Amino acid sequence: MAASSHSEPLCTRFAPSPTGFLHLGHAHSALFAWRAAREAGGRFLLRIEDIDRTRCRPEYTAAILEDLAWLGLDWDGPVHVQSEHFAEYRTVLDSLSARGLLYPCFCTRAEIAREVAAIGGAPHGPDGPLYPGTCRRLSPVEREARIASGESYALRLDMGAALATLDRPLFFDEWGEGRLRCDPARFGDVVLARKDTPASYHLCVTHDDALQGVTLVTRGEDLKPATDLHRLIQSLMGWPAPSYRHHALLLGPDGRRLAKRDGAPALRDLREAGRSAAEVREMAGVGGDFAGR
Ligand code: GLU
Repeated sequence: MAASSHSEPLCTRFAPSPTGFLHLGHAHSALFAWRAAREAGGRFLLRIEDIDRTRCRPEYTAAILEDLAWLGLDWDGPVHVQSEHFAEYRTVLDSLSARGLLYPCFCTRAEIAREVAAIGGAPHGPDGPLYPGTCRRLSPVEREARIASGESYALRLDMGAALATLDRPLFFDEWGEGRLRCDPARFGDVVLARKDTPASYHLCVTHDDALQGVTLVTRGEDLKPATDLHRLIQSLMGWPAPSYRHHALLLGPDGRRLAKRDGAPALRDLREAGRSAAEVREMAGVGGDFAGR
């Protein structure tokens, strides 16, 4: 695939995880992406990121579709549901494995915590303490024997090997900031497939953005550090790099970020309290001319 260029038609997406109801922060992301696409005559896609089968629920997916339609959003093509695409993510994992860029990790969380304590602590990356590399040092024979005995394992990226494939530093384009240099090493040997989830967020999101031809990713700034890793995965797989717009997280009246775990009002609560879609769009910071929608 060719590298992305700004002469391509704009393609944006909204990619919520159905682990709860949408709140104003989601509305901001969705409305911004929708509006950017519609104003540019481009495409706006909806993707349901439901790979975590323990936390995602179909009733939340149904509520997402309903809330977005109520807000006045429409999307192009069918909704892309990640849990229907595990075979494609497997193909990506197989390709990385075949190139020696992944290794099986048999450690439990408790074992990792003990190992980290034993070495006097480990630096923290965006996804938690960096993995101390215990299973990277297993011999091929031991790996095979443990897999053959039925032990469950995650697949980790060998960050050193992955970085060694690069012949130049990685950058990404951030709206309003220009080219930012990536530091994927801060993730260490990140998990790309879990014991209980056959592919990680980082793998699926980069795969799907490439597969779906997304040219502008808009999401909260809490995911900005992840972009360093996403650029590395794109580089390893030869996928194009979209531009990014990481927006500030909306703050509640108490100045704390709006997140569903902090009890932020869901869009449906606002609707039930009598707010109109236009008012909620204003509250989400993307009001104005919606051409009668
Ligand atoms: N599914 C992620 C979430 O709901 C967002 C992924 C993204 O926009 O890249 O937090």
